[in-house]
Amino acid sequence: MSLQYLSTRGQAPVLDFEGVLLAGLAQDGGLYLPQTLPSFSASELQAMRGMSYTELATTVIAPFVEGSIDRDTLSGLVEASYRDFRHQAVAPVLQLDHDQWLLELFHGPTLAFKDFALQLLGRLLDHVLTRRGEKVVIMGATSGDTGSAAIEGCRQCEHVDIFILYPDGRVSDVQRRQMTTVRGDNVHNLAIRGNFDDCQALVKASFVADAFLPDGRSLVAVNSINWARIMAQIVYYFYAAFALGGPDRPVNFSVPTGNFGDIYAGYLAHRMGLPVNNLVIATNRNDVLHRMLTTGTYARQPIATSLSPSMDISISSNFERLLFDLYDGDAAQIAQLMADFSEGEINLTDAALGRAQQLFTSAKVSDEETCDEIRLAWQRTGQLLDPHTAIGTRAARLCARDGEGPMITLSTAHPAKFPAAVARAETGHTPQLPDHLADLFDREERFDTLDNDIAAVHAFMAAQCRS
Ligand SMILES: *Cc1c(COP(=O)(O)O)cnc(C)c1O
Repeated sequence: MSLQYLSTRGQAPVLDFEGVLLAGLAQDGGLYLPQTLPSFSASELQAMRGMSYTELATTVIAPFVEGSIDRDTLSGLVEASYRDFRHQAVAPVLQLDHDQWLLELFHGPTLAFKDFALQLLGRLLDHVLTRRGEKVVIMGATSGDTGSAAIEGCRQCEHVDIFILYPDGRVSDVQRRQMTTVRGDNVHNLAIRGNFDDCQALVKASFVADAFLPDGRSLVAVNSINWARIMAQIVYYFYAAFALGGPDRPVNFSVPTGNFGDIYAGYLAHRMGLPVNNLVIATNRNDVLHRMLTTGTYARQPIATSLSPSMDISISSNFERLLFDLYDGDAAQIAQLMADFSEGEINLTDAALGRAQQLFTSAKVSDEETCDEIRLAWQRTGQLLDPHTAIGTRAARLCARDGEGPMITLSTAHPAKFPAAVARAETGHTPQLPDHLADLFDREERFDTLDNDIAAVHAFMAAQCRS
């Protein structure tokens, strides 16, 4: 019997892995998660120590895809996904101080951790769609890193046309060029005359009504509401812990957080059996999660721009998945809470907040502190951090507790992706793009500029889908 997935709000059909891979939001507005989370026994964990990244990925992911993808096929897809990473360890761990460590997640093609999930997602989609003889359309909104990682992951998928919407003139030059210079007749960049919220609203509205697509095709989500993305990210928490003495020694993670996808994967690793003492939610000035964890009130706020744009969010979609556990899987209660939230704010019960505080801690880091942290890390270790990672290491030091073991900060992006922020830190050092992107600014760009108008966007997409 294969693993079944259900919606956090309890009113959508139960699906198997293939179903959640091809779905976006559940029909009831909720997010899918496994009915029973796979877990590893103490002896299984011991046997996983010392595995290569790809062996470990196959072992961790196999129970989630059982019934949809056999182990040999999975192993092949995993190998192909991580083959082109520029570091042979795939996710190397680096020492910063005697108990502070960095998990480098930026050695993939687009220089951010999102490659870990999207390289695999593209290959899973192609495999499943080939077998089913179906085509789908990927549509996503990006303020930066998701767009390029999704394009890189899916540009070779025969059965996928991909449309990425970004706010015209409001993404960095590096980020835009990483999307618009990719060749492929299934890749479409749409510069929307509007802001990021406008782009996201266009995407959300399209998921509700996807009849504009040709031949009955459906839309697939590439942001972290897609379960497959979360699943792929669980792996590197195990990998880093094993590198530092786990499972015999508990570890701690500090995670630069926006949509709560990445840190939620760490929470799942813990629930699957990995000993973890402390999961640090590191936020920039957009501190909706920090306020939730310190006060119990979860309240939306307007987005403020910062030096760490990939964490500039007003709400964290994946927090709903954690809420589901904090409320003992009571889907009716989650549906009610999310309805209340859309009206304003919600207050966690003392029991739910207490549970969250047992594992999670949090810190908020300003732009000024971010620059200060980049400069300090450079002086003390010779390591140049990107602004998102710097928020992680600063929060790690603020939240570390004595005697709890190694603290591992997830280094979510390469510093060359955010040269302006790094320059502001005045280290006297300019990060260089790796060789495969060295000529990024000489490459020809391809994009279409469209009004913030859903009919125009749909007409464009329908006309551009390959037959
Ligand atoms: C997406 C992103 C984040 C935030 O990750 P979430 O899963 O949304 O919490 C942090 N840093 C970088 C560089 C990112 O691209």
